[in-house]
Amino acid sequence: MKVYLDNAATTALDREAIQAMLPYFSEEMGNAQSVHSFGRRAKAAVEQARRQVASLINSDPTEIIFLSGGTEADNLAIRGAALGASGRHIITTRIEHPAVLATCQSLERDGFRVTYLQVDEDGRVKVESVRDAIESDTSLISIMHANNETGALQPIEEIGRVIAQSRASGFEHLRFHTDAVQSVGKMAIDVDRLGVDLLSISAHKFHGPKGVGALYVRKGVRLAKLLYGGHHERDRRPGTENVAGIVGLGKAAELARVEDMTRVRALRDWFESEVSARVPDVKINAVAAERLPNISNITFRRIDGEALLIALDLRGIAASTGSACSSGSVEPSHVLTAMGLSRKDVLASLRFSLSRETTREELDYTLRAIGEIVPHLRLVSEEDGIEMGLPVESRS
Ligand code: PLP
Repeated sequence: MKVYLDNAATTALDREAIQAMLPYFSEEMGNAQSVHSFGRRAKAAVEQARRQVASLINSDPTEIIFLSGGTEADNLAIRGAALGASGRHIITTRIEHPAVLATCQSLERDGFRVTYLQVDEDGRVKVESVRDAIESDTSLISIMHANNETGALQPIEEIGRVIAQSRASGFEHLRFHTDAVQSVGKMAIDVDRLGVDLLSISAHKFHGPKGVGALYVRKGVRLAKLLYGGHHERDRRPGTENVAGIVGLGKAAELARVEDMTRVRALRDWFESEVSARVPDVKINAVAAERLPNISNITFRRIDGEALLIALDLRGIAASTGSACSSGSVEPSHVLTAMGLSRKDVLASLRFSLSRETTREELDYTLRAIGEIVPHLRLVSEEDGIEMGLPVESRS
């Protein structure tokens, strides 16, 4: 059996999206900037996708910029807003995706100051900490909507209200960006309700194609350029439009039905309660936070998460750790670390991420595998500890 539980990394491309994209790889090959009929049809397809994406987040189509994905959307939002403003201070959190963190770090090298807000043990940033961090030259606040490792939702709507109050009391230059790469397509999103100026979207996280995304930019928000070239996308993102990709993103946006996720949430909750019932000494991370319906992050104490990941993979089950494996060394997740988990617990944690295609049978198979593998790994690591003469508390 093959079980794919890594949908936070990427999802399967929807069949209807594939069908919608296919003509734009062959007979409808026009460049959307060309004036002839081929170009006009390509342009019409891009504009239809713009309406589909806009309607998913309740924005105006003119506020949607197509680009290459979540990473570029985050870069354009953050560098674009920061370099286009006079303030030199940015606020973000410690649990952002590297697309945000590394972009903020690049601005620090350019002379900006960045405040990285702490989160609580459930991975949530406190609204008051945002309010307290605002300084007279803060130009941008970038806080993710849902965390990619735990699914924890940040109080974006409340933060949006704090920012609106700050603007009303003299901080009118403040801009608010949210990386909504994990939440778009999994829950209802309304840019006005959230009170954001900029919002990042990536197609491949909700059954669209890889390498295409969008940035919502509220009317009137100025952005410095990231790339230089032609006048595409209202002069904000040059480069020939990826017409097929954009059509796929539009179709995925149209298909992203919120009601599907009720079933996914019930399955996820059932999976978590079964893991807790079948395996002793586990902890569901961010369980007290409002979370996305499809992500489950679990610490299996006294095991090596990588070993569990590999053992599951051998049985056809795909999950993930939050660790970034680089040049042979395992870097523990900065998200779980910021939530206060010990290094050992961080390295014993796995993320399971479901999609609307996940079935109960697949989760049942996964539960049985976990129930067999985890006690075995614990036994092996205890035996290793005894062999090495380590005291009980430092084993595993
Ligand atoms: N932001 C978050 C929260 C993500 O989870 C990801 C993808 O893992 C990205 C940004 C980057 O998106 P993309 O893969 O489209 O560049």
